[in-house]
Amino acid sequence: MSIIVQKFGGTSVADAEKIGRAARRAIRTKLKGHQVVMVLSAMGKTTDQLVALANELNSSPPQREMDMLLTTGEQVSISLMAMALAAAGHEAISFTGGQVGLVTDAVHAKARIQSIDAQRIHSQLDAGKIVIVAGFQGITDEGAITTLGRGGSDTTAVALAAVLKAAECEIYTDVDGVYTTDPRIEPRARKMDYISYDEMLELASLGAGVMHSRSIEFGKKYNVPIHVRSSLTDTKGTLIVAETPGMEQIVVRGVTLKRDLARVELVGVPNEPGLAARIFARIAEHNIVVDDIIQNVYGHGREANIGFTTTLSDVKEACVICQQLCKEIGIQDVETDENVAKISIVGIGMKTHTGVASRMFKALGEAMINIQNISTSEIVIGCLIDKKDGEQAVKLLHEAFELDKSPENNGD
Ligand code: ASP
Ligand code: MG
Repeated sequence: MSIIVQKFGGTSVADAEKIGRAARRAIRTKLKGHQVVMVLSAMGKTTDQLVALANELNSSPPQREMDMLLTTGEQVSISLMAMALAAAGHEAISFTGGQVGLVTDAVHAKARIQSIDAQRIHSQLDAGKIVIVAGFQGITDEGAITTLGRGGSDTTAVALAAVLKAAECEIYTDVDGVYTTDPRIEPRARKMDYISYDEMLELASLGAGVMHSRSIEFGKKYNVPIHVRSSLTDTKGTLIVAETPGMEQIVVRGVTLKRDLARVELVGVPNEPGLAARIFARIAEHNIVVDDIIQNVYGHGREANIGFTTTLSDVKEACVICQQLCKEIGIQDVETDENVAKISIVGIGMKTHTGVASRMFKALGEAMINIQNISTSEIVIGCLIDKKDGEQAVKLLHEAFELDKSPENNGD
């Protein structure tokens, strides 16, 4: 009997009616002969409200307590779901992350999954129950409650699908799939039928809000087919799958804009071996995720400016750390800029096509959009630009790469 994992995001369980709808979906799947595991987010904007409440009492709440607080949101939705299923005459049981043995490291607010005890779930499924698991949360070896980072229920779902060897992990959300770009910015954005893990991973980490990027890493590593689809309709959404040769024919698959970025610049760093290592080791010790690193050497190689981008939520802490480093290493100054955004184009076809970067720069240049930094990987070209130019850049690049047109021969 195949297992299907169904994850419902906050908007898909926002009220009693929506919980009922999700319950009926799980029941239909079960009646088709599958074993069903549901992974739920907190109802609607619950997590945001809890964060706001915490901030009313403490502007930098202890992270352990923050995790304790935020995980309550998911407990509300899983227990209500079990009640809805029971009311419909179906046996169901809800579990917290800790109860299903979802063990994480001890990094509060952005914990990483270390292991999951699948046996507990298997035995309940074998007993004929629908199993409902709280998304986004885990437990440390010492028994402390952790969370996987905002949006982390996706990761819970895909990780569970991996350990349970599920046939598919369905991600139910308020959009009907993955789009070539954010349709709120570019109404001509197109829903894709397929996308590869690598492309989706880049889109997710570059700001396409659809999925938690770590969930895609899991999907790729354990080859879990992920189906992103709407909780309101029965139409097919977007399948995230392993790469096929035909996929490379499309040069650019999507355009993303990452807005919650800030740049930190260390000005006048002595240009000596080992300093970059020291700076970034310190930043890593504080679990600050660095996006791009930009270094310029000047003064006949004696000095350098080292800049990096990080998320807006981490920039204050990053700045404090860098100011300490200033004193220790003799760096002149630390500057921050919160008005930056990163516009990126993504496509595995870039591996085999040329002229992609110049086409991107031309489109931006013609619109007088200044590029502050360029970063590239095998399947991504990203430009750091002024935040105010972000939306226009999305539209320009969507047009320049004709993403509104349905590509041929690509399995779409
Ligand atoms: N409820 C959590 C959040 O809002 C986790 C999730 O929805 O995936 O971030
Ligand atoms: Mg989400």
